[in-house]
Amino acid sequence: MKYDLAVLGGGIMGLSCAFEEAMRGKRVVVIDPNPIGHKASWAAAGILVARAGVIGNSPLREMYLRSLYGYSDWLARIELESGRSVSFERSGDYQIFPLDNRESLQAFKLQEKQLIREKASDFSISSELPSFLRPHASIQNAKVFHFPNEASVNNRLLLEALETALRQRGVDFLNAKPISWSVTKDESVLSGEVWNVQTRQVLIAAGAWCNDVLALLGLAVPLIPVKGQLAMLPNFHVQKSMIHCAEKIYLVPRGDQLVCGATTESGKWNEDFDDEGDTYLQNRLQAFFPNVKPVWSETWSGLRPRTADRLPLMGWVNEKAGIALCTGHYKSGISLAPMAARCMSALLNGEKTPAKLDAFSPWRRNGLTTAG
Ligand SMILES: Cc1cc2nc3c(=O)[nH]c(=O)nc-3n(C[C@H](O)[C@H](O)[C@H](O)COP(=O)(O)OP(=O)(O)OC[C@H]3O[C@@H](n4cnc5c(N)ncnc54)[C@H](O)[C@@H]3O)c2cc1C
Repeated sequence: MKYDLAVLGGGIMGLSCAFEEAMRGKRVVVIDPNPIGHKASWAAAGILVARAGVIGNSPLREMYLRSLYGYSDWLARIELESGRSVSFERSGDYQIFPLDNRESLQAFKLQEKQLIREKASDFSISSELPSFLRPHASIQNAKVFHFPNEASVNNRLLLEALETALRQRGVDFLNAKPISWSVTKDESVLSGEVWNVQTRQVLIAAGAWCNDVLALLGLAVPLIPVKGQLAMLPNFHVQKSMIHCAEKIYLVPRGDQLVCGATTESGKWNEDFDDEGDTYLQNRLQAFFPNVKPVWSETWSGLRPRTADRLPLMGWVNEKAGIALCTGHYKSGISLAPMAARCMSALLNGEKTPAKLDAFSPWRRNGLTTAG
């Protein structure tokens, strides 16, 4: 069968882009050697916070905020198409900065500066922990921001809903790894040992593994995996708010549990939950909440795709041949998915993108090179 678009990678980026294209009536195939939606996108905590997350005044910050503002409408489209509901909670976020160490004080000042720059008013600040945390906490002296409108999403349900919506729209899924790629004037042929796919366009969205695919074209990007280990524990404070403790640990409600994360381990390809992750999470949890026992009901990890300059790679690899790239969303891919998908879909269809992609060009300095 001949396709309009082959998407290489079935994580949040590949599925979201495939969704936009399928909704336009395109014939799409998603090719992935692993079970769909089971890598970084499955591992994520589902935090969608406007007031933290991507900090700074940049095109990425702008894209990030626009993505978050459109999130609930985007989910509604996916829910409608799939007939499945995706848990999305706007239950707020507490950011706690203990004042007894320099690092935490600096992080507080950075956050404060950002709030002033963006003229934010949807928050309160206090020198006391919220009453529901006080019985559990060790911290005496802290600055606490409360953002009542911050949201989180159950990213695992989101991936399932996207896959269902795509299948219902007639998108094909191929559980395979491309091992060769030939490019002619107006199409690509991707092949494995016993299959081949002819397609007019290809979108590479293979997360931390994009170089495996780019190597088939003799190309490479400076992209590394940054391992994050997480664990789940019962929700000891019973509230639905998220908690971020001095950027050391976060607790995100999911059902009656809390997702507790996460380590930041650059350059590791190993996807186990190991002693390093266990020790990190136990120590951080105990430092802030000494009365809470770190009894994990689930543990896991994932590999975040990070570029050299920490900006995503979104744009044409070869416009004439219809080959595009969408990766490098590091710690914010779940948040960025709606806007990234709209932009990539506009690009693939020769339209003006809803956000400027110049800063994210795959061919920028720190971008694509010919593989040596
Ligand atoms: C621990 C952790 C916590 C996070 N928390 C958050 C959060 O709270 N909020 C937020 O916004 N973001 C968060 N992120 C970041 C977010 O998860 C990532 O930015 C996002 O999932 C990246 O999506 P992706 O589709 O590019 O990659 P992935 O989800 O990794 O998908 C890549 C896909 O490519 C496939 N693939 C591999 N090799 C090939 C090949 N040769 N050919 C074709 N396909 C291939 C893989 O099997 C996989 O399915 C977190 C990430 C981690 C790891």
